[in-house]
Amino acid sequence: MTEKRKPPLTKEQIEELREDLKLADTLARIENTLLVLSGKGGVGKSTVAVNLAAALAASDMEVGLLDIDIHGPSVPTLLKLEGAEVKHGLGGGLEPIKVSKNLKVMSMEFVMRENKDQAVIWRGPMKHRMIHEFLSEVDWGNLDFLIVDAPPGTGDEPLSICQMAPPRSQALIVTTPQKVAIRDVRKSINFCKSLEMPIFGIIENMSGFVCPSCGVTHQLFKTGGGENLARETGYRFLGSIPIDPQIVSSSDDGKPFVTEFPNSPSSRAFEQIIGPILALSTPRLKKN
Ligand code: ADP
Repeated sequence: MTEKRKPPLTKEQIEELREDLKLADTLARIENTLLVLSGKGGVGKSTVAVNLAAALAASDMEVGLLDIDIHGPSVPTLLKLEGAEVKHGLGGGLEPIKVSKNLKVMSMEFVMRENKDQAVIWRGPMKHRMIHEFLSEVDWGNLDFLIVDAPPGTGDEPLSICQMAPPRSQALIVTTPQKVAIRDVRKSINFCKSLEMPIFGIIENMSGFVCPSCGVTHQLFKTGGGENLARETGYRFLGSIPIDPQIVSSSDDGKPFVTEFPNSPSSRAFEQIIGPILALSTPRLKKN
């Protein structure tokens, strides 16, 4: 009996396979991927992602920062990269923008130039496809850390990135101390659990207030919500970042506060937060 021959692959299927191979090759060169997630918008997720990337890069790590927010990318503004031109490198992939010796950045905004000021209306499968293509196209080279700034909530983009992320990926969850934010963070935790995405830890942002005159951190508003949640759920509490007017001014100037104001209470809080994250990386001697 003759074996039935499979129908030949379509052009689209071949293109998808090619992209899968490219994606696997790109991801194999990334040692750790951290997905910065939050239950709701405005809690400082992008600020944390940018400063985490800058702090790790300042600690001699090779870092990539990827902004996959299609609807409202913040990373280009937070790093003064609006209008940056991305080019294709010698290998044909997209070259991320180099912002310091070992920090490279790529944002959806760089590749959506024409749509910049228009609302983007895409359905889930289109977004998934776009993120897949985007991930496979960017030529990061070897990275110790890829930090991904995903849109808030549990929508299409966080779902796609969790599904495509390499095996050594973990989520970092950012919240503010208030009850409403904590309630949404529980949803993010359940989202990660259902996708089998390990959670590395929880960060509480906007916790206490740094007085601009005396520089002392006052506990004006509620604090501790994130820490209580971590205790209750059994996840690592990485630390709290106070409300600091210097964070707003450095963000508006397009500079990470950890490098602009390294001695501020918020930068010192960040130093504590990155300790366990740095420990994820294999010591360089072993890498060579
Ligand atoms: P998200 O990504 O969660 O929507 P952003 O990172 O864009 O939030 O931050 C929203 C605003 O809050 C920005 O103007 C940012 O400068 C400010 N911000 C974030 N964290 C702090 C903080 N700890 N102290 C003061 N302002 C902050």
